[in-house]
Amino acid sequence: MYKIEIIEAGNFYADGGAMFGAVPKRAWSRRYPSDENNLCLMTMRCVLATCGKRLILVDVGMGDKYLDKVKYYQPHNLVPIKDSLVKCGYSLSNITDVILTHLHFDHCGYSTSYADGHIVPTFPNAKYWISRRQWNTLENPNRLEKDSIFEEDIRPLLEHNQLHIIKEDSVLYDGVEVRLYDGHTAGQLVVYFDTDEGMVVFPGDLIPTSSHLSPDWISAYDINALVSVNEKVRFLQEAAKHKYKLIYCHDAYTISSKVRKSGDLFLVEK
Ligand SMILES: [Zn+2]
Repeated sequence: MYKIEIIEAGNFYADGGAMFGAVPKRAWSRRYPSDENNLCLMTMRCVLATCGKRLILVDVGMGDKYLDKVKYYQPHNLVPIKDSLVKCGYSLSNITDVILTHLHFDHCGYSTSYADGHIVPTFPNAKYWISRRQWNTLENPNRLEKDSIFEEDIRPLLEHNQLHIIKEDSVLYDGVEVRLYDGHTAGQLVVYFDTDEGMVVFPGDLIPTSSHLSPDWISAYDINALVSVNEKVRFLQEAAKHKYKLIYCHDAYTISSKVRKSGDLFLVEK
């Protein structure tokens, strides 16, 4: 059984129109606040899952290697992942595995860091896991995602023989599963942990906030909206049926919840 700890890596702002796509503001603003510039506060929430000597991080936040390139998102309250781990009683070298849901900078920036002018893996003893389709996206970036993916987050992992590629839905270890979902990006990894309180799932940007539980509420950042809708329904039917606890990676107001089905909709289980 895994123990789950939440790691908050910091905040940024995203345009509300971009976060909720075709949904009118009069609808989404009832569920998610925005400021006078239409900006929504977002978190970069990660998970530390531990079981004995196995310490697994899921996503790591944007890090600090290229803040000038992403300043449009106004990153703030950034917490070095090293400090977060120390608070939990661990060091960078204790981490055995890092699962990157996908390669957008707000999820994987801290996978590498500067040391003596070189970019090296932040977690020297970890296996880093990404999906094959994410690797393909890195090698052949499409027009919509090319500004969100930085080679320096991933290439050093390959050079240090720490990169592991996942081709299909897999059991990584006893009590840890990864499954692939398309729509937001190709082959995003959704991560499932068996815990004392049942299955805890990290759906990444498949469901970035609890306000995105409605299947049709699709972010304009998704590369294929219709695929996202179908993938969300596929995931949420299972999540509601089996009472999974979901951790929302970008929701500044709701960390996690179970979900229930109500007609065609899925709602936060209060
Ligand atoms: Zn994201």
